[in-house]
Amino acid sequence: MKPPIHGLFLAELEAFCKEQGQPAFRAKQIWDWLYVKRISSADEMKNLPAPFRARLAETFSFQCLEKLETKGDPGETQKLLFKLADGELIETVIIPALRRQNNTVCISSQVGCRFGCAFCASGQKGVIRNLSAGEIVGQVLEVAKILGGRPDNVVFMGIGEPFDNYDEVLRAIRILNHPDGLRIGARRITISTCGVVPGIQRFAEEKLQVELSVSLHAPDAETRSRIMPVNESWPMEELLDACRVYTEKTKRIITFEYTLIKNLNDSPEQARQLVKLLKKFPCRVNLIPLSPVEEFAGERPQPEAMKIFLEILEKTGINTTFRDSKGSALKAACGQLRVRRL
Ligand code: SAH
Repeated sequence: MKPPIHGLFLAELEAFCKEQGQPAFRAKQIWDWLYVKRISSADEMKNLPAPFRARLAETFSFQCLEKLETKGDPGETQKLLFKLADGELIETVIIPALRRQNNTVCISSQVGCRFGCAFCASGQKGVIRNLSAGEIVGQVLEVAKILGGRPDNVVFMGIGEPFDNYDEVLRAIRILNHPDGLRIGARRITISTCGVVPGIQRFAEEKLQVELSVSLHAPDAETRSRIMPVNESWPMEELLDACRVYTEKTKRIITFEYTLIKNLNDSPEQARQLVKLLKKFPCRVNLIPLSPVEEFAGERPQPEAMKIFLEILEKTGINTTFRDSKGSALKAACGQLRVRRL
Protein backbone atom coordinates (compact mmCIF):
# COMPACT_ATOMS: atom_id res chain seq x y z
CA MET A 1 0.00 0.00 0.00
CA LYS A 2 1.31 3.46 -0.89
CA PRO A 3 1.90 5.82 2.05
CA PRO A 4 -0.39 8.87 2.13
CA ILE A 5 1.46 11.99 1.02
CA HIS A 6 -0.43 13.99 3.66
CA GLY A 7 1.56 12.28 6.40
CA LEU A 8 4.86 13.87 5.36
CA PHE A 9 6.51 16.94 6.81
CA LEU A 10 7.69 19.60 4.38
CA ALA A 11 11.32 18.67 5.14
CA GLU A 12 10.57 15.05 4.21
CA LEU A 13 9.05 16.14 0.93
CA GLU A 14 12.19 18.18 0.30
CA ALA A 15 14.31 15.09 0.92
CA PHE A 16 12.15 13.14 -1.51
CA CYS A 17 12.50 15.83 -4.18
CA LYS A 18 16.28 15.83 -3.75
CA GLU A 19 16.37 12.08 -3.99
CA GLN A 20 14.51 12.36 -7.28
CA GLY A 21 16.97 14.93 -8.62
CA GLN A 22 14.48 17.76 -8.26
CA PRO A 23 15.24 21.18 -6.74
CA ALA A 24 14.12 21.66 -3.13
CA PHE A 25 11.58 24.36 -4.07
CA ARG A 26 9.45 21.63 -5.67
CA ALA A 27 8.52 20.50 -2.16
CA LYS A 28 7.09 23.92 -1.41
CA GLN A 29 5.09 23.78 -4.64
CA ILE A 30 3.71 20.36 -3.70
CA TRP A 31 2.86 21.60 -0.20
CA ASP A 32 0.92 24.48 -1.72
CA TRP A 33 -1.06 22.15 -4.00
CA LEU A 34 -1.83 19.84 -1.09
CA TYR A 35 -2.83 22.31 1.59
CA VAL A 36 -3.69 25.64 -0.05
CA LYS A 37 -5.19 24.57 -3.36
CA ARG A 38 -6.17 21.21 -1.93
CA ILE A 39 -6.04 19.10 -5.08
CA SER A 40 -6.68 15.36 -4.92
CA SER A 41 -4.24 13.94 -7.46
CA ALA A 42 -0.62 14.43 -8.54
CA ASP A 43 -1.80 15.14 -12.05
CA GLU A 44 -3.35 18.44 -11.04
CA MET A 45 0.00 19.91 -9.94
CA LYS A 46 0.45 21.84 -13.14
CA ASN A 47 3.74 23.55 -12.34
CA LEU A 48 5.60 20.25 -11.85
CA PRO A 49 7.25 18.38 -14.72
CA ALA A 50 5.00 15.55 -15.94
CA PRO A 51 7.49 12.74 -15.23
CA PHE A 52 7.89 13.95 -11.66
CA ARG A 53 4.10 14.08 -11.24
CA ALA A 54 3.96 10.50 -12.41
CA ARG A 55 6.70 9.57 -9.92
CA LEU A 56 4.71 11.19 -7.10
CA ALA A 57 1.57 9.31 -8.11
CA GLU A 58 3.47 6.01 -8.13
CA THR A 59 5.01 6.61 -4.75
CA PHE A 60 2.23 8.16 -2.66
CA SER A 61 -1.49 7.94 -2.24
CA PHE A 62 -3.21 11.30 -2.62
CA GLN A 63 -6.56 10.28 -1.27
CA CYS A 64 -6.40 7.76 1.54
CA LEU A 65 -10.03 8.19 2.61
CA GLU A 66 -13.05 7.25 0.61
CA LYS A 67 -16.25 8.95 1.72
CA LEU A 68 -19.01 6.36 1.85
CA GLU A 69 -21.78 8.25 3.55
CA THR A 70 -22.78 11.73 4.74
CA LYS A 71 -25.53 12.14 7.30
CA GLY A 72 -27.08 15.50 8.12
CA ASP A 73 -27.59 18.66 6.09
CA PRO A 74 -25.02 21.28 5.10
CA GLY A 75 -24.93 24.04 7.72
CA GLU A 76 -25.94 21.60 10.46
CA THR A 77 -24.08 18.84 12.23
CA GLN A 78 -22.92 16.30 9.67
CA LYS A 79 -21.46 12.87 10.23
CA LEU A 80 -19.13 11.41 7.63
CA LEU A 81 -18.23 7.75 7.20
CA PHE A 82 -14.85 7.05 5.60
CA LYS A 83 -13.32 3.87 4.29
CA LEU A 84 -9.56 3.55 4.73
CA ALA A 85 -7.26 1.86 2.23
CA ASP A 86 -7.37 -1.43 4.17
CA GLY A 87 -11.17 -1.40 4.37
CA GLU A 88 -11.50 -0.19 7.97
CA LEU A 89 -14.14 2.44 8.65
CA ILE A 90 -13.97 5.62 10.71
CA GLU A 91 -16.30 8.53 11.42
CA THR A 92 -15.70 12.27 11.39
CA VAL A 93 -18.14 14.97 12.49
CA ILE A 94 -18.57 18.56 11.26
CA ILE A 95 -20.04 20.83 13.91
CA PRO A 96 -21.03 24.34 12.81
CA ALA A 97 -21.04 27.00 15.51
CA LEU A 98 -24.04 29.23 16.17
CA ARG A 99 -22.10 31.99 14.52
CA ARG A 100 -21.63 30.83 10.96
CA GLN A 101 -18.13 30.74 9.57
CA ASN A 102 -16.81 29.00 12.61
CA ASN A 103 -16.78 25.31 11.98
CA THR A 104 -15.31 22.61 14.13
CA VAL A 105 -14.25 19.24 12.83
CA CYS A 106 -14.21 16.35 15.27
CA ILE A 107 -11.71 13.77 14.06
CA SER A 108 -10.82 10.19 14.89
CA SER A 109 -7.32 9.10 15.88
CA GLN A 110 -7.75 5.30 15.94
CA VAL A 111 -9.99 2.57 14.55
CA GLY A 112 -11.70 1.66 17.82
CA CYS A 113 -10.31 2.35 21.27
CA ARG A 114 -8.67 0.17 23.89
CA PHE A 115 -9.90 2.02 26.97
CA GLY A 116 -13.48 0.78 27.08
CA CYS A 117 -15.26 3.56 28.99
CA ALA A 118 -18.65 2.07 29.88
CA PHE A 119 -20.69 4.94 28.41
CA CYS A 120 -18.81 5.34 25.12
CA ALA A 121 -19.65 3.46 21.91
CA SER A 122 -16.17 3.89 20.41
CA GLY A 123 -14.43 1.40 22.65
CA GLN A 124 -16.99 -1.38 22.91
CA LYS A 125 -14.97 -3.68 20.68
CA GLY A 126 -11.44 -2.66 21.57
CA VAL A 127 -8.88 -1.09 19.28
CA ILE A 128 -8.16 -2.35 15.77
CA ARG A 129 -5.34 -0.04 14.73
CA ASN A 130 -3.88 3.43 14.91
CA LEU A 131 -4.56 5.95 12.20
CA SER A 132 -1.54 7.31 10.38
CA ALA A 133 -0.86 11.05 10.35
CA GLY A 134 -1.95 11.08 6.70
CA GLU A 135 -5.31 9.56 7.61
CA ILE A 136 -5.76 12.10 10.38
CA VAL A 137 -4.86 15.08 8.17
CA GLY A 138 -6.98 13.51 5.41
CA GLN A 139 -10.11 13.86 7.54
CA VAL A 140 -9.55 17.61 7.87
CA LEU A 141 -8.90 17.95 4.13
CA GLU A 142 -12.08 16.05 3.23
CA VAL A 143 -14.02 18.37 5.50
CA ALA A 144 -12.33 21.40 3.91
CA LYS A 145 -13.60 20.16 0.55
CA ILE A 146 -17.15 19.86 1.87
CA LEU A 147 -17.07 23.26 3.56
CA GLY A 148 -15.33 24.99 0.67
CA GLY A 149 -12.64 26.22 3.04
CA ARG A 150 -10.57 24.96 5.91
CA PRO A 151 -12.37 24.39 9.22
CA ASP A 152 -11.62 26.81 12.07
CA ASN A 153 -11.23 24.31 14.89
CA VAL A 154 -10.03 20.73 15.08
CA VAL A 155 -10.85 18.53 18.06
CA PHE A 156 -9.48 15.05 18.66
CA MET A 157 -12.78 13.89 20.13
CA GLY A 158 -13.84 11.32 17.59
CA ILE A 159 -13.05 7.61 17.76
CA GLY A 160 -9.92 6.63 19.65
CA GLU A 161 -7.54 7.82 22.33
CA PRO A 162 -5.11 10.35 20.84
CA PHE A 163 -2.40 9.70 23.45
CA ASP A 164 -2.51 5.99 22.59
CA ASN A 165 -1.34 7.06 19.11
CA TYR A 166 0.89 9.86 20.28
CA ASP A 167 3.46 10.12 17.48
CA GLU A 168 1.04 10.12 14.56
CA VAL A 169 -1.30 12.56 16.33
CA LEU A 170 1.53 14.99 17.01
CA ARG A 171 2.80 14.64 13.46
CA ALA A 172 -0.69 15.40 12.15
CA ILE A 173 -0.96 18.45 14.42
CA ARG A 174 2.33 19.84 13.10
CA ILE A 175 1.11 19.39 9.53
CA LEU A 176 -2.29 20.97 10.24
CA ASN A 177 -0.61 23.85 12.04
CA HIS A 178 1.99 24.60 9.33
CA PRO A 179 2.03 28.35 8.49
CA ASP A 180 2.28 27.71 4.73
CA GLY A 181 -0.31 24.94 4.72
CA LEU A 182 -3.71 24.66 6.38
CA ARG A 183 -2.68 27.11 9.12
CA ILE A 184 -5.01 25.68 11.77
CA GLY A 185 -3.92 27.66 14.82
CA ALA A 186 -2.52 25.55 17.67
CA ARG A 187 -4.99 27.16 20.06
CA ARG A 188 -7.76 25.98 17.77
CA ILE A 189 -6.69 22.36 18.08
CA THR A 190 -7.81 20.33 21.09
CA ILE A 191 -6.58 16.94 22.21
CA SER A 192 -8.93 15.08 24.52
CA THR A 193 -7.57 12.22 26.62
CA CYS A 194 -9.30 9.72 28.88
CA GLY A 195 -6.35 10.10 31.26
CA VAL A 196 -3.26 8.52 29.71
CA VAL A 197 -0.74 9.96 32.17
CA PRO A 198 2.47 9.36 30.16
CA GLY A 199 0.84 11.17 27.24
CA ILE A 200 0.07 14.20 29.40
CA GLN A 201 3.63 14.22 30.72
CA ARG A 202 5.12 14.02 27.26
CA PHE A 203 2.72 16.60 25.88
CA ALA A 204 3.83 19.07 28.57
CA GLU A 205 7.29 19.10 26.95
CA GLU A 206 6.14 19.82 23.38
CA LYS A 207 6.06 23.62 23.64
CA LEU A 208 2.86 23.72 21.63
CA GLN A 209 -0.12 25.97 22.26
CA VAL A 210 -2.54 23.11 21.61
CA GLU A 211 -5.49 22.84 24.03
CA LEU A 212 -5.77 19.84 26.33
CA SER A 213 -9.01 18.33 27.62
CA VAL A 214 -9.07 15.54 30.17
CA SER A 215 -12.09 13.28 30.55
CA LEU A 216 -12.65 13.04 34.29
CA HIS A 217 -16.34 12.15 34.69
CA ALA A 218 -16.19 11.52 38.43
CA PRO A 219 -15.00 13.29 41.57
CA ASP A 220 -13.66 10.17 43.29
CA ALA A 221 -11.67 7.10 42.32
CA GLU A 222 -14.39 4.59 43.14
CA THR A 223 -17.00 6.17 40.88
CA ARG A 224 -14.43 6.77 38.15
CA SER A 225 -13.29 3.16 38.18
CA ARG A 226 -16.88 2.01 37.79
CA ILE A 227 -17.21 3.73 34.42
CA MET A 228 -13.61 4.17 33.24
CA PRO A 229 -11.31 1.12 33.41
CA VAL A 230 -8.39 3.44 32.59
CA ASN A 231 -8.59 4.55 36.22
CA GLU A 232 -7.03 1.23 37.20
CA SER A 233 -3.98 1.85 35.01
CA TRP A 234 -3.51 5.49 35.94
CA PRO A 235 -5.33 6.24 39.16
CA MET A 236 -6.99 9.58 39.61
CA GLU A 237 -4.41 10.87 42.05
CA GLU A 238 -1.64 10.31 39.54
CA LEU A 239 -3.77 11.80 36.79
CA LEU A 240 -4.50 14.99 38.70
CA ASP A 241 -0.88 15.27 39.69
CA ALA A 242 0.15 15.04 36.03
CA CYS A 243 -2.44 17.70 35.20
CA ARG A 244 -1.13 20.02 37.91
CA VAL A 245 2.45 19.63 36.66
CA TYR A 246 1.23 20.19 33.08
CA THR A 247 -0.43 23.51 34.01
CA GLU A 248 2.65 24.63 35.95
CA LYS A 249 5.04 23.79 33.14
CA THR A 250 3.00 25.08 30.23
CA LYS A 251 1.04 27.86 31.97
CA ARG A 252 -1.92 26.48 30.03
CA ILE A 253 -5.34 25.71 31.42
CA ILE A 254 -6.78 22.21 31.16
CA THR A 255 -10.47 21.64 30.48
CA PHE A 256 -11.94 18.75 32.42
CA GLU A 257 -14.77 16.96 30.65
CA TYR A 258 -17.50 15.69 32.94
CA THR A 259 -20.31 13.67 31.39
CA LEU A 260 -23.34 13.86 33.66
CA ILE A 261 -25.02 10.52 34.30
CA LYS A 262 -28.20 10.26 36.38
CA ASN A 263 -27.72 8.89 39.91
CA LEU A 264 -24.11 8.05 39.19
CA ASN A 265 -22.07 11.26 39.23
CA ASP A 266 -24.65 14.06 39.26
CA SER A 267 -25.40 14.75 42.94
CA PRO A 268 -24.76 18.12 44.61
CA GLU A 269 -22.40 16.32 46.99
CA GLN A 270 -20.36 15.08 44.02
CA ALA A 271 -20.29 18.61 42.58
CA ARG A 272 -18.82 19.83 45.87
CA GLN A 273 -16.29 17.00 45.85
CA LEU A 274 -15.29 17.97 42.33
CA VAL A 275 -14.75 21.57 43.44
CA LYS A 276 -12.46 20.38 46.23
CA LEU A 277 -10.49 18.24 43.82
CA LEU A 278 -9.97 20.94 41.20
CA LYS A 279 -9.31 23.85 43.55
CA LYS A 280 -5.61 23.02 43.51
CA PHE A 281 -4.88 24.50 40.10
CA PRO A 282 -6.50 26.72 37.45
CA CYS A 283 -8.75 24.80 35.08
CA ARG A 284 -12.10 24.78 33.33
CA VAL A 285 -14.91 22.26 33.52
CA ASN A 286 -17.08 21.24 30.61
CA LEU A 287 -20.28 19.48 31.61
CA ILE A 288 -21.82 17.19 28.99
CA PRO A 289 -25.19 15.48 29.46
CA LEU A 290 -24.84 11.78 28.65
CA SER A 291 -25.65 10.93 25.03
CA PRO A 292 -27.59 7.68 24.76
CA VAL A 293 -25.50 4.65 23.85
CA GLU A 294 -27.06 1.20 23.33
CA GLU A 295 -24.60 -0.74 25.44
CA PHE A 296 -24.91 1.52 28.48
CA ALA A 297 -27.99 1.61 30.67
CA GLY A 298 -27.29 5.06 32.19
CA GLU A 299 -29.47 8.10 31.53
CA ARG A 300 -28.89 11.80 31.41
CA PRO A 301 -29.98 13.65 34.57
CA GLN A 302 -33.08 15.86 34.73
CA PRO A 303 -32.35 19.43 33.59
CA GLU A 304 -32.87 20.67 37.15
CA ALA A 305 -30.18 18.36 38.54
CA MET A 306 -27.74 19.49 35.86
CA LYS A 307 -28.50 23.12 36.65
CA ILE A 308 -27.79 22.62 40.35
CA PHE A 309 -24.53 20.83 39.54
CA LEU A 310 -23.46 23.67 37.24
CA GLU A 311 -24.35 26.34 39.80
CA ILE A 312 -22.28 24.70 42.53
CA LEU A 313 -19.20 24.78 40.30
CA GLU A 314 -19.83 28.31 39.10
CA LYS A 315 -20.40 29.67 42.58
CA THR A 316 -16.92 28.63 43.62
CA GLY A 317 -15.43 30.45 40.65
CA ILE A 318 -14.62 27.42 38.51
CA ASN A 319 -15.07 28.43 34.90
CA THR A 320 -17.76 25.98 33.77
CA THR A 321 -19.43 25.47 30.44
CA PHE A 322 -22.36 23.27 29.66
CA ARG A 323 -22.29 21.55 26.30
CA ASP A 324 -25.31 19.69 25.14
CA SER A 325 -23.55 17.92 22.38
CA LYS A 326 -24.95 18.29 18.93
CA GLY A 327 -25.76 15.57 16.53
CA SER A 328 -27.59 13.19 18.82
CA ALA A 329 -30.18 12.47 16.14
CA LEU A 330 -27.42 11.36 13.77
CA LYS A 331 -25.64 9.35 16.46
CA ALA A 332 -22.86 11.86 15.95
CA ALA A 333 -22.74 13.21 19.50
CA CYS A 334 -19.99 12.65 22.09
CA GLY A 335 -19.39 8.99 22.65
CA GLN A 336 -21.75 7.81 19.92
CA LEU A 337 -19.17 7.23 17.20
CA ARG A 338 -18.39 3.59 16.74
CA VAL A 339 -16.37 1.25 14.63
CA ARG A 340 -18.36 -0.25 11.83
CA ARG A 341 -17.74 -2.98 9.36
CA LEU A 342 -18.76 -3.14 5.75
N1 SAH B 1 -10.49 9.16 24.11
C1 SAH B 1 -10.59 10.59 24.28
C2 SAH B 1 -11.31 11.19 23.11
C3 SAH B 1 -12.79 10.94 23.04
S1 SAH B 1 -13.47 12.46 23.29
C4 SAH B 1 -11.25 10.90 25.61
O1 SAH B 1 -11.74 10.00 26.25
O2 SAH B 1 -11.20 12.04 26.04
C5 SAH B 1 -15.08 12.31 23.54
C6 SAH B 1 -15.58 12.92 24.83
O3 SAH B 1 -16.93 12.49 24.95
C7 SAH B 1 -14.85 12.38 26.06
O4 SAH B 1 -14.84 13.34 27.08
C8 SAH B 1 -15.74 11.22 26.41
O5 SAH B 1 -15.57 10.79 27.72
C9 SAH B 1 -17.10 11.81 26.16
N2 SAH B 1 -18.15 10.78 26.00
C10 SAH B 1 -18.00 9.50 25.67
N3 SAH B 1 -19.18 8.86 25.63
C11 SAH B 1 -20.11 9.78 25.93
C12 SAH B 1 -21.53 9.74 26.04
N4 SAH B 1 -22.21 8.63 25.82
N5 SAH B 1 -22.16 10.87 26.36
C13 SAH B 1 -21.48 12.02 26.56
N6 SAH B 1 -20.15 12.12 26.47
C14 SAH B 1 -19.47 11.01 26.18
